[in-house]
Amino acid sequence: MKQLCKIKKDDISSCFRKLTDITCKPKFMCTKCARVAKDEKYLCRPASLAK
Ligand SMILES: [Zn+2]
Repeated sequence: MKQLCKIKKDDISSCFRKLTDITCKPKFMCTKCARVAKDEKYLCRPASLAK
């Protein structure tokens, strides 16, 4: 699975199940793209969402 930041629109439907798993309980947000993920490895500039 590549970074969400690099994913294309066409990839979203084909990877839908995997994407729901990655994004349903996010712990990180990309400070460049505003995408969220449970693991920082999916983002190009991850920042922790932890309080
Ligand atoms: Zn990014």
